[in-house]
Amino acid sequence: MNGQSQTEEALHQALDHYYDVYFRRGDIRETLALVDGDSTGAGTGAGEMAYTYDDVVRLYKQDLGQAPNEVHFEELSRTVTALNPDSGLTFSLLNLETEIMHQRLKFNQLRLTMVWRRDQKDQVFKIVHLHASFPTNEHEADESYPVKELEERNRVLERLVQDRTRELELSLEQQRDAASTDRLTGLRNRASLEDLLEMEINRAVQEEAVFAVILMDMDHFKRINDTHGHQAGDSCLKELAELLIRQSRPTDIVGRWGGEEFLIICPNTDERGSKDLAESFRLAVSAYRFTKTGAQTASFGVAAFMTGDDGETLIGRADRALYRAKGAGRNRVEV
Ligand code: GH3
Ligand code: MG
Ligand code: MG
Repeated sequence: MNGQSQTEEALHQALDHYYDVYFRRGDIRETLALVDGDSTGAGTGAGEMAYTYDDVVRLYKQDLGQAPNEVHFEELSRTVTALNPDSGLTFSLLNLETEIMHQRLKFNQLRLTMVWRRDQKDQVFKIVHLHASFPTNEHEADESYPVKELEERNRVLERLVQDRTRELELSLEQQRDAASTDRLTGLRNRASLEDLLEMEINRAVQEEAVFAVILMDMDHFKRINDTHGHQAGDSCLKELAELLIRQSRPTDIVGRWGGEEFLIICPNTDERGSKDLAESFRLAVSAYRFTKTGAQTASFGVAAFMTGDDGETLIGRADRALYRAKGAGRNRVEV
């Protein structure tokens, strides 16, 4: 190899190395190691002009900071010219593609012109001047304006908006669910039951429909905690919730009223129907063997909606019936 081709070979290597540290790896330290102390440069933006090494460093930091992902590149052409053994020019044409803020960005036909000088200390070629530019009418052969590029950009933005909207909807849904769900049992919580009760009352008034509520309270639950511990009590409540869901009809609304009390709202059900349903709950509970605590019973108070009722009066009647069930020896249904 003669001297000129040796120099050009070294310039090829220097340019390859530059692509690697700057585009592929985005390594600011290694990129700056390739910049000569006398370096100047100009980029594509209005303010991208560097008259000193410090300016060049600032521009590189800005570039790499704004496009932190790998820049995929396709080199369309490259010309390397040795000026003398210690300096040379490279000119390359590149298509670039990277992702910034979830958007795929493509830059076609970047023209990269570089002046290199061999560093006298470590003998490697370093950049003394760099100029990057894009063709001003960046468009394809069959268009007068970069329409396809804009369309693609629009599609990306639409997808982004759709994704974000969906995410927001999901999290709103999750928040609503969380706000209406009892953490321990996964049943509706009291606030949600109160809302639904009010809706059911309005419906009953407007449509002259019947409906009833069943209030259920575990018998001697304090003993469960005292004997088996609070955790056993909790697990008992979870199993109870599953049992109530299994035992209820699809239209029934089952929720945790508080502590070891549960409320079942029974749409389109009269007093007799809800008493029968409560009886089936009672039998199911007493027949069930809880994993940690074995046999348990519960007491039930039933109240059917009457004209003039609000949530308080209706639940009040169910509560008094429940109190009677307790007084009459527990494991009972009272109306
Ligand atoms: P009664 O048959 O008269 O209802 O007797 P009881 O012991 O069940 O009495 P009461 O209803 O007054 O007490 C309920 C007890 O349930 C009080 C509390 O220790 C327990 N409890 C309430 N909420 C929870 C809970 O989330 N977890 C557990 N482990 N225990 C609870
Ligand atoms: Mg209680
Ligand atoms: Mg109780």
